[in-house]
Amino acid sequence: MPPDPETEKLDTERARLKGGQYRIKGSENEDRIRELTRLIAAKVARRKNDIRRAYREDYFYNRPTWDVEANGQEEREYIEPAIDLYIPERAQLAEILCNQPDNLSSTELLELRILAAELMVVLCGKRETVKRNRIQRRARADVKVKEESPGPDLFPLLMDRKQCPHCIGDETLSFEERTFKYCRPAVMYDHFDRKHTQQLGSVKQMSCNHPKCREEALEFKHLNHFKNHVEQVHGVKLRA
Ligand SMILES: [Zn+2]
Ligand SMILES: [Zn+2]
Repeated sequence: MPPDPETEKLDTERARLKGGQYRIKGSENEDRIRELTRLIAAKVARRKNDIRRAYREDYFYNRPTWDVEANGQEEREYIEPAIDLYIPERAQLAEILCNQPDNLSSTELLELRILAAELMVVLCGKRETVKRNRIQRRARADVKVKEESPGPDLFPLLMDRKQCPHCIGDETLSFEERTFKYCRPAVMYDHFDRKHTQQLGSVKQMSCNHPKCREEALEFKHLNHFKNHVEQVHGVKLRA
């Protein structure tokens, strides 16, 4: 910071009056020199105060901006976590969604979108498998509560459209597996077609094993007959 010109002028005048002498007592300019010393001291003190105030004003005015800018810097330095996934489709999908190149043409972008959609479909298909271990672990924790309170109807006649109408009557499965809801009705149809259609098609007399129907001993001659019953009574429409 440049020195204050006024203070400098007073300083020069005082030096001239002192004439290189240290002692001023008894000198003809003693009064003026003492006055100058007082004036200089006052000016220096005021200037110090002004500088301090200006610095504080500047600091508190700019601090929030510096903080915001510093935050932005930190974000730029953020390191992407490595994609480490077991399911290949999920890993590929994450790669597409997270690390998309910047300079793609619209055709390339479209291709990437199609690929992402296809991967999502495959991934959804994979999710239908009932997680037997996980469900059993959760079921064990729930058992106590269930034994204590009879609660609502565990197997209502009207089912959810995403529940399998055959698994619900399979007493070899856990309660959670019997009442499992797939992510979409279509995924449940896939499961039904794959797991039950062949088996049901090979028996001569098929019956609805839903806990509510079992007592009635309902019998069906054809798979379509059974599907019709499931739709009418349980509210679950199966693929024809
Ligand atoms: Zn089933
Ligand atoms: Zn039934």
